[in-house]
Amino acid sequence: MATTIQIAVRTLVEHVYRSGSIDSKFRSQSTLLDGTRIHQKIQHTYQESDQKEVYLRTDLSFKDLVFTIDGRCDGLLFRDGEVIIDEIKSTSHHLEHLGQEGLPVHWAQAKMYAYIYAQDHQLQEIFVQLTYVQVESDEKKYYKQCFTLEDLEIFVHEVAESYYPYAKLLHDHRKARNNSSKQLVFPFESYRAGQRKLAGAVYKTISEEKSLFVKAPTGIGKTISTFFPAVKAMGEGYLNRIFYLTAKTITRTTAEEAAERMRSCGLCMKTVTITAKDKVCFKDETKCQKDYCEFADGYYDRINEAVLDIVSNENSMNREVIETYARKHTICPFEFSIDLAYAVDAVICDYNYIFDPRVSLKRLFEDQKKSTVLLIDEAHNLVDRGREMFSASLKKYSFLQLKKEFKTVNKIVYDGASKINAWFISLKKNHPEQSEFTLEQLDEELVELLTQFNEGAELFLQKENAPNLLELYFQVNAFLKIVELLDDHFVIYGEKNNNDITLKLFCIDPSKQLQKMGKNYRSKALFSATLSPLSYYRDILGGQEDDYSLSIPSPFKEEQTDIFIKPLSTRYRDREKTKEPIASMIHALVQNRPGNYLVFFPSYQYLLAVYEQFKKEFPGINTLLQGAGMSEEERELFLAEFKPNQSETLIGFAVLGGIFSEGVDLKGDRLNGVVVIGVGLPQLCYERNLIKDHFNQKEKSGYDYAYVFPGMNKVLQAGGRLIRSEEDHGTIVLVDDRFLQRQYRELLPLEWRRFTVI
Ligand code: SF4
Repeated sequence: MATTIQIAVRTLVEHVYRSGSIDSKFRSQSTLLDGTRIHQKIQHTYQESDQKEVYLRTDLSFKDLVFTIDGRCDGLLFRDGEVIIDEIKSTSHHLEHLGQEGLPVHWAQAKMYAYIYAQDHQLQEIFVQLTYVQVESDEKKYYKQCFTLEDLEIFVHEVAESYYPYAKLLHDHRKARNNSSKQLVFPFESYRAGQRKLAGAVYKTISEEKSLFVKAPTGIGKTISTFFPAVKAMGEGYLNRIFYLTAKTITRTTAEEAAERMRSCGLCMKTVTITAKDKVCFKDETKCQKDYCEFADGYYDRINEAVLDIVSNENSMNREVIETYARKHTICPFEFSIDLAYAVDAVICDYNYIFDPRVSLKRLFEDQKKSTVLLIDEAHNLVDRGREMFSASLKKYSFLQLKKEFKTVNKIVYDGASKINAWFISLKKNHPEQSEFTLEQLDEELVELLTQFNEGAELFLQKENAPNLLELYFQVNAFLKIVELLDDHFVIYGEKNNNDITLKLFCIDPSKQLQKMGKNYRSKALFSATLSPLSYYRDILGGQEDDYSLSIPSPFKEEQTDIFIKPLSTRYRDREKTKEPIASMIHALVQNRPGNYLVFFPSYQYLLAVYEQFKKEFPGINTLLQGAGMSEEERELFLAEFKPNQSETLIGFAVLGGIFSEGVDLKGDRLNGVVVIGVGLPQLCYERNLIKDHFNQKEKSGYDYAYVFPGMNKVLQAGGRLIRSEEDHGTIVLVDDRFLQRQYRELLPLEWRRFTVI
């Protein structure tokens, strides 16, 4: 029996008819927004007998496949005996760009609808009309053509023929994938304590279409315990795609290894890893324009062949593999990885490809989301990452600069920048006293000015290259996007800095937006060793009443760790006088218990002060110092110094919450002890205080939300570097008198609560 493949008209024609180059030089951001308005406006002009948004569907047999193709055409018009399929397209480009004929992909879409309608209604001929509308001027251009049913049959056959190799490849692969996933057993000899429970919970969550929040200790193997059940759920037909989302590159590697391990046990699964554009770019500058970058030039002419090539030959499409095929086909490795994300079974990538409204994968349609699970690793990071993704700011200085630059170049851009600059000046004047101040609401006038500015910028950028204008244009667009989200989860504030002033739309509580962006996915599993307190993370990460929660106890024995608390004040005012006792304490520790240590400090300044003190007093002991802005290579060299069974002690001085306090895996004797100085509280600042006030007003514990919980998270992460297997043994010293206070003590993991005060 032939297999049915469901596909939307638009997806089908966009796949077959894509052509041309990547061009970030200028792409109108307003098209989509105005598109809806313009569609409705045109549809309003239809006659009474006409129909709009007509649903059309057909089954098309081709070789051993049946394509079920469907979609909604914008208009079905009846004029003087003619039946016309109307397809409306809005554009911010001048209409002359369309030439004599319009764009092939638009014709293809409309012809596909025409074919379905003509076939259904036994029409021997039918008209197709493309209605283009210029968004700023409202100018219209029509293209109209008559097709016989025979013409359309030939056309549809050609489309199916072009799409068939890709569809067949995916179809055959998915069949093999589902069969192999059914056979797959857990890819380790046995489950570690806690792993089975976690895997079971993830499977249940997916089968019941729920979400799950998990606190599971470091070292139990969270990646495989979440990835494996998701793969099993795929075999059972619950899922078609898995997104493994991480905040850091290092955790992406762990996910790649887990996928590889399952493959080595017989699983037939294709994965792609998305690496950030600026990292993977082949050129010196990330200027995605066809006249600068050969990998952008003609990208869409070559992409289908490249996708077929890589998907036919590779299972693990990591950065290296993608780069190899990208060079082979002369295509951009970043855009290639994004295109592959729609073809593979599992995507390993940063949070922002799902949650950031500015970069999320736009082509994941709602029906695809329903068969997709999000596995969100180290989910505690999503709080601040969420805040960043949903916030935006603008500086007065940028407009002032542009005003100067465009004075003699373009009047529209010059006027636009001048007016916004003047708006900022009056904002400053209205708040003469404070360096920071909040605004009750955003001035409508500013939104109007920014919209006009961008319209002017669009017109200019269509014709000319202007890097500064382009950059500000994107910033304004991002800002206007966030304006649309504003509600009581945001605070609008101004900040004066020397002569400049910044206006920020600050998303204080990302829960609502995270919930919105994660909506419609079949399931989500958010997990971390430090999702603690779980109720706080559920609240701020957009959890809902009926979501599941799971807390897995540590599989390691209490005797594996000796916990000490040194009740010294590490508050800012006491730092100068504590550098000596801390240096002495570290020395006494390594004298009694020689080995490899990491000592984490709440600030770089404090770190340097103690480090210098320590070197002065104990110059004979080997030390390492975390540098400011270390490269990946320097970071690797730093960690490589932590060798097992060293005869001499080594102490690494590092920053709490920095690159060495999370995601670092120093197993066994590579690390014997961790010292954490302070309770990790973020520095007192205006933004943190806004968070505090906001949650206090919501009758939650504002100080905990703004300071204590994020701070203690860093402490737990740093301490979590130590015991990572059943064989590890080590020492944790917590230096701060606040660790003895109930508020902080209760946030320590159970296995840390049997401590000795020193
Ligand atoms: S290779 Fe670099 S410059 Fe070229 S399109 Fe890709 S990201 Fe842009």
